[in-house]
Order: sequence, then structure tokens, then C-alpha cells
Amino acid sequence: MPIWLHIPLTYVTLFVGFIFVALSVWGLWGGLLNAIPDRLGGMKSLIGFGIAVAVLWLGHIPAWLFLTRVPARCTQQGCKGRAYAAWASPIAYTCSVCGHVRQTPFGIGKR
Ligand SMILES: [Zn+2]
Repeated sequence: MPIWLHIPLTYVTLFVGFIFVALSVWGLWGGLLNAIPDRLGGMKSLIGFGIAVAVLWLGHIPAWLFLTRVPARCTQQGCKGRAYAAWASPIAYTCSVCGHVRQTPFGIGKR
């Protein structure tokens, strides 16, 4: 697929990943959290914080897989090679055939 389609789909996957993971994690651990006695007040918010971190971490995995494992098409004239991106800011696609690197103004993850 072309890069102009690959990047928006990466963001869509990221968004859907967060929603999906957030819903499943809250559904699973929310019930567990309610089972913790209230006298463990501080511990409870700590566990809640841990869940939030888990959601942020797990939620990016589908987008990470999509961005780094699903190839876009090389933008080099005459080359239809598979261009793979790294999880970085800015996102750059490297062609596996001709080695052409296509920088994009879009970023993901750490800058
Ligand atoms: Zn190429």
C-alpha cells in the first residue's frame, strides 16, 4: 500500500488498539480492583496507576506491529519494493529492495 495510506492506518490502529486494550483491561481488572478492600486505599490507587500504564503500553502494540511488520510501497521511481518503517519520530520508510529511505513529517513514540 502507498505510504500516504499506511501512516493514517497506523494512527487508526493506534487509536483502536488503545480503545480495545483499555476496554478489555478495565473490564478484567476493574472487577478485580473493586474486590480489593477499601482499607488498602493507597495500594488501590497504585494498582489503578499500574493498570493505566499497562493500557498505554499494551495499546500501542497493534500499531507497532502494523507500522513495523506491514510494508508500504517504496516511493522510488520504478521500484515497487516493500518499504518498512521503524517505530520512531519522524517515521521513515526504508525500502527492502533498493534501500531508498523516505522521511515523513509524521511522528510516533519518542522524539
Ligand atoms: Zn525501493
